[in-house]
Amino acid sequence: GRLESTVAVITGGGSGLGAAITSRFVEEGARVVVLDRSAEKLAAAENRYGGTVRTVRGSVTAFADNARACSVAENEFGGLDVFIGNAGLWDFSRTLFDSTPEHLDAGFDELFAVNVKGYVLGAKAAAPLLRRTRGNMVFTLSNAALYPGGGGVLYTASKHAGLGVVRQLAYELAPEIRVNAVAPGGMATDLRGPEAMDLSDQPIGAAIPIGKIVRENSALGIEPCAEDYVEAYVLLGSGRESRTVTGTVIDLSGFGIPRRPA
Ligand code: NAD
Repeated sequence: GRLESTVAVITGGGSGLGAAITSRFVEEGARVVVLDRSAEKLAAAENRYGGTVRTVRGSVTAFADNARACSVAENEFGGLDVFIGNAGLWDFSRTLFDSTPEHLDAGFDELFAVNVKGYVLGAKAAAPLLRRTRGNMVFTLSNAALYPGGGGVLYTASKHAGLGVVRQLAYELAPEIRVNAVAPGGMATDLRGPEAMDLSDQPIGAAIPIGKIVRENSALGIEPCAEDYVEAYVLLGSGRESRTVTGTVIDLSGFGIPRRPA
C-alpha cells in the first residue's frame, strides 16, 4: 500500500468525505484514529474495521478532545504521521438578507468554532507528534475557500480562513511538518449546519439536489461523490509522494473553469 506503516488522525471521519478518506487510508495500509461527535457513526466504523481503526468521541472545538485522539494514535499505534482536519459545518448558503442578526451572530460562533478553531486546535494537538515523525497535516477546505457561491458569507469566510490556517502553519512548522489542503466541490453527504441557525436537523443531500447543482454549474458536468476526492489526501499524506509540497491547496472542485455555454 501507499500508506504502509502510516498512522493518521481523521476528524469528522464518521461519515461523508472523512469516512471515505478513512476507508481509502486503510486500503493503502494505514492505521487510523477517527475523532467524531457522533457515537453512532463511530460504532459503525469500529464494526467495519476492527483493530485498524480506533475511534474517539468528542468535539474538534475542544483542545482536549483533539489531544485525546492524538494520544490514542501514539499509545495504540506508536505515533502520528498524518493529521487530517476535516470535520465541518455548512451554512446552507443562507444569504445576508435572509439571515436574522441573531442567526449571523450565534451562527458565526458555532460555524467558525468547528471550521476554523477546530483546525487550529487540531493542529496544536498534533504538531508535537508530527514533529517527531516529520509528518504532515491535510485540511479539508472547499471550493468556498477559493470562490464565492459555495455557501453563504459565514461558510465562505470560514473556508477562506482555513486557507490562512494552512499557509501560516506551513510557514511556521517548516521544515519539520508539511501542511496542505484539499478543496473538494459539492457532494451529497450528511453535512449539517449550525444549531443556532436552525440548520442542524437536515443534511445537505436532503436539503438541496447538490449533485445536480454541481453537474450543471461546473465545466466538467459531473456529479461527484466523496470517493472522487480521496486520492489527493493519499498523495499529500504520503511522505514519499509529496515530500516537496507544503502550503498548497489542491482544487478538486473544477470550479476554477467556468461552464462553456451550450
Ligand atoms: P459530513 O457531515 O458527512 O461529515 C462531517 C463529520 O464531522 C460528521 O461525521 C460529523 O458528525 C462530524 N462533526 C461535525 N461537527 C463536529 C465536531 N464539532 N466535532 C467532531 N466531529 C464533528 O459532511 P462532509 O460533507 O463529509 O464534510 C466534510 C468536510 O468537507 C467539511 O469540512 C465540509 O466543509 C467539506 N466540504 C463538503 C462539501 C459538500 O458538498 N458536502 C463540499 C466542499 C467541502
